[in-house]
Amino acid sequence: MNTNIEHTHQSRKRSERITGPHAGYDKYGRLDHYYWRCERCGLEVTTSKLARGCWRCATEDDA
Ligand SMILES: [Zn+2]
Repeated sequence: MNTNIEHTHQSRKRSERITGPHAGYDKYGRLDHYYWRCERCGLEVTTSKLARGCWRCATEDDA
């Protein structure tokens, strides 16, 4: 019998919790922009670069 158990890679999550894109609205309630948010430090930016990793958390981890 061949039991091929797939191991789930339980490596520690290095990546921070980045959520987004979220819709940002202007004062008239119209869709204005999208933003990404780091749930760990609360950083919000309008660039999808954050989805690859939060630079603010990265520097904090280094300390
Ligand atoms: Zn962060």
